[in-house]
Amino acid sequence: MKFDRAKNLVKLLLAFCVVLCVIGIVTAETGSMTPVYASIASFVCFVLSFVVVAVYCKCPYCGKRVYLGLFKATHCPHCRRNFETGVKKKGKR
Ligand SMILES: [Zn+2]
Repeated sequence: MKFDRAKNLVKLLLAFCVVLCVIGIVTAETGSMTPVYASIASFVCFVLSFVVVAVYCKCPYCGKRVYLGLFKATHCPHCRRNFETGVKKKGKR
């Protein structure tokens, strides 16, 4: 999986997590099983997003993982290459 796809997948999973949380809260007083399922599914999405980060969010050039600033990162913090173009960032370290 490519870096930008993995990044979008993490965003999607976290969005699902929030949505399911809200569903769980909204349906909490209905007395049905919905809030239980919603909270379980929300937790699963949350865990999955971390799994995707750990497994797929690697720099395509040096293979190191990118955790910090994942959503706004355009350059690898290790080898300073652009994730899309592979061009090295210029300037001082
Ligand atoms: Zn790198």
